[in-house]
Amino acid sequence: MKDDVARARALIAAADNVIVIAHERPDGDAIGSLLALNLSLQRMGKGSVPVLADGLPRTFAFLPGAQQVTTRIPDTADLLVVVDCSDLERTGFKAGAFPRKADINIDHHPTNTSFAQANLVYPRAASSTQVLYDLAPRLGLPIDLDVATNLLAGLITDTIGFRTSSVTPAALRTAADLLEQGAPLADIYERSLNVRSFVAARYWGRGLSRLRMDGGVLWTSLTLADRRAVGYSGSDDADLVNLMTTVEGARVVVIFVEQPGGKVKVSWRAREGLDVSRLASRFGGGGHVPAAGATLEGALEEVQARVLAATQALLETTKAGER
Ligand code: AMP
Ligand code: MN
Ligand code: MN
Repeated sequence: MKDDVARARALIAAADNVIVIAHERPDGDAIGSLLALNLSLQRMGKGSVPVLADGLPRTFAFLPGAQQVTTRIPDTADLLVVVDCSDLERTGFKAGAFPRKADINIDHHPTNTSFAQANLVYPRAASSTQVLYDLAPRLGLPIDLDVATNLLAGLITDTIGFRTSSVTPAALRTAADLLEQGAPLADIYERSLNVRSFVAARYWGRGLSRLRMDGGVLWTSLTLADRRAVGYSGSDDADLVNLMTTVEGARVVVIFVEQPGGKVKVSWRAREGLDVSRLASRFGGGGHVPAAGATLEGALEEVQARVLAATQALLETTKAGER
């Protein structure tokens, strides 16, 4: 990994035109990492373009540099940096859509496939922005207030406000450092985790009305019809999965979000050290031990049956309390 850091530093130093990209259906860590790195590279005097396949969600439009995000990959670049993605396909683009191979991969997913020339993957980091913060001095990346704000946004959102098991003393020290540099913690928290639209709350209602629990597995679905009925414009679960994890007795939480074109996005959240990342990997996805996802082909009912059977099987082989 030391070699990879040195290699990444040299690649960054030599580059003039950079493409930075994060994952599809971006969360706060994908966006925070993308914008922090993009702004930092620009502060170094480099050209840099932040790309998101699905564009920028409205919730994160307040972050510094957010208006620079584009959905179009530039035709040329001398450096491609991929952040918060366990593999290149997570960007939402095929490898052929990029003008070059991935040069640098900055991530914290244990399921990362080390797909770039320099792979900076630290599974114990609470967020990809934590990785960026830790490596910034060695990569020669400057951190100003705007960069700090984006870094803190990634850390706050991936830890759901510092309450996941991934929170370490280092994560809290990073937050303290960023706060000291002026990053508005309370404001970021409020805007990215607390506030939701009326439409999103009604969308939750559709999912909650179908909530089911069976043998420690709590699940529900959100359909294309639900989105149409309430006028929700996103293709995600509006964070309903995190609300579901507050239900007592739920050892594993699963949500099925119907997508256009006969696909279903599945998200798992687990308690008690149960490993849902391997389950997700088996379905072509990935993630972390307690939080993972995958996109499956098939009709909602059929995907639901397949995934619930596999999830129940995981619970049966892992008795309560066992890891
Ligand atoms: P989500 O279920 O989308 O909230 O994601 C939970 C965790 O799993 C996050 O760390 C995601 O980056 C990861 N994840 C979700 N979907 C996929 C996928 N298709 N492939 C790899 N990782 C994923
Ligand atoms: Mn992410
Ligand atoms: Mn992340």
